[in-house]
Amino acid sequence: MDITCTDRELFIFKKIGKVAGDLQLPCYLIGGFVRDKIIGRPTKDADIVCLGDGIELAHKVAEQFNPKPTVAYFKNFGTAQIKLQDLEIEFVGARKESYRYDSRKPEVEPGTLEDDQNRRDFTINALAISLNAADFGKLVDPFNGVTDIERKIIETPLPPPQTFSDDPLRMMRAIRFATQLKFTIAPETFTAIQENAERIKIVSQERVTDELNKIMLAEKPSVGWDLLSKSGLLQVIFPQMMALHGAEYIDGHGHKDNFYHTLQVLDNISAHTNDLWLRWAAILHDIAKPPTKKFEEGHGWTFHGHEVVGARMVPKIFTKLKLPLSEKMRLVQKLVLLHLRPISLTKENITDSAVRRLLFEAGEDIDALMMLCEADITSKNKIKVKRYLQNFELVKQRMAEVEAKDSLRNWQPPITGEIIMQTFGLPPSKNVGLIKDAIREAILDGIIPNSYEAAHGYMLQKAAELNLTPIE
Ligand code: ATP
Repeated sequence: MDITCTDRELFIFKKIGKVAGDLQLPCYLIGGFVRDKIIGRPTKDADIVCLGDGIELAHKVAEQFNPKPTVAYFKNFGTAQIKLQDLEIEFVGARKESYRYDSRKPEVEPGTLEDDQNRRDFTINALAISLNAADFGKLVDPFNGVTDIERKIIETPLPPPQTFSDDPLRMMRAIRFATQLKFTIAPETFTAIQENAERIKIVSQERVTDELNKIMLAEKPSVGWDLLSKSGLLQVIFPQMMALHGAEYIDGHGHKDNFYHTLQVLDNISAHTNDLWLRWAAILHDIAKPPTKKFEEGHGWTFHGHEVVGARMVPKIFTKLKLPLSEKMRLVQKLVLLHLRPISLTKENITDSAVRRLLFEAGEDIDALMMLCEADITSKNKIKVKRYLQNFELVKQRMAEVEAKDSLRNWQPPITGEIIMQTFGLPPSKNVGLIKDAIREAILDGIIPNSYEAAHGYMLQKAAELNLTPIE
């Protein structure tokens, strides 16, 4: 073998080769597993292509192991999977695909190994390794995929316009692999992406978003977003993001290019977290800058309210991209809404009550918010960055002090609506809400301390103002 496998993997592959030999079904390891092994990337999914019925081979292989693994098979696709410890193996019969221009559903028929390699998206994904007794371990590399791995190049095996026209998702995949592997897309291949970008529309949103999320989770996701932009794909899949491009000038006043600023923020946050949703919050934090942009005489460019408008755009964008409309979306929305708050605290005199209010509103997401806010400090001017970071540290310190004193994380005011209803014999009603809100505001503003006794006293006082008296 030209690749380094563990002893266990080797044992499994030899066994598969033996079973396939008995069935006279030549078989090969193929695709991502071979690529990642050559690169030296960890990989746990092995695809095996055989010249015949992959499902039959999977069943026969499964019988060789004790305990016998379950075979999950999909008759329609002719694929079968078994899991052996943490190695997931997928079996499929070699196939030949031909496409018609108006559909991305290929016509599929059984084929040779060569046919199967021809239908692969990139040379680095078309590598195969024989598992057959006669030449076990032999690399079959018809498109010089190994050379492309060494050159760090993403290139299609067939003429690129055909590859991308056949299945336009491959354009997203090219950019995803370039981002994940830090490879370059070959110029001809990239030109074909630019020419076919519009065709991404015929691919389901789920498949597109899957690739987008993989780009997002790469070490330096900005690389992928920049390629998406330059290829023309971004304009089709996410035009609001393209609108962040460019800096406008009036009377010599410019503003920063919000597209590249956003990508910088994304990379900054990605250096600290692998959380997909915090990375999405970075992408979306300034998304409403274009629709809120104004030039104000004597003031320059403003983006008033972009955090509020941006938070409102989040559900629409999540719906369009088919991202989950769950608490993850609400987290992103909250971070977009609050992203200016920590740093704007430094513009005033940082009062305890302002800090308390922010801690209360951010709740358990305060650390995520602070991470986003710190990532948002970008400027070419090093002195400015230094000053902002110092201010930011100051806010962090004040937060720590207020938190230590008031423990406001996950805080709920000490008097609940239930207590108010019982004390005054009230049904759920407007007055209960008024008293509850007044207590919360008084604590946040520091008018009363954060204790049960103080809150109870304040409740009686507020109730008296509303002509309410406690019941016995
Ligand atoms: P990862 O596991 O990181 O997603 P991968 O290369 O293993 O990377 P898969 O989507 O599992 O990606 O695909 C396995 C193999 O199937 C690929 O290496 C490639 O050879 C082939 N393949 C997958 N999708 C396509 C496609 N759209 N067009 C052509 N070949 C594809």
